[in-house]
Amino acid sequence: MAQIDNYDWLNLIPSGWIEIGRTMIEECEAIYPEWEICDLKEKWGQLRCYDNGVPSTLREQVDEILDKYEKISGQTCNICGAPATKLSSGWILPFCDDCAAERPNMVFKSINNGN
Ligand SMILES: [Zn+2]
Repeated sequence: MAQIDNYDWLNLIPSGWIEIGRTMIEECEAIYPEWEICDLKEKWGQLRCYDNGVPSTLREQVDEILDKYEKISGQTCNICGAPATKLSSGWILPFCDDCAAERPNMVFKSINNGN
């Protein structure tokens, strides 16, 4: 089976998160060059990444990176990458004010990033 390049997964995620995903891949590959994504997707308004495993000595370090970008994505507009101020209802995704304003038919609630 042909190997899917880690960066090919970026084509499958919301456009506003592509730079987040790219940085996440760079950090994981820096720790473990053989690092391979087995699934990268949006879930509950955050970017979730699953890999094909890493040496046990690196697991904690890699998980910290994945957790970090999961949180960052939840605070980043999925359309344009600006800091998110709102979450859509129903299918939960983060939006900035501008992208939310362009979607009058969607229902949003404000989020507090708590940083
Ligand atoms: Zn936006």
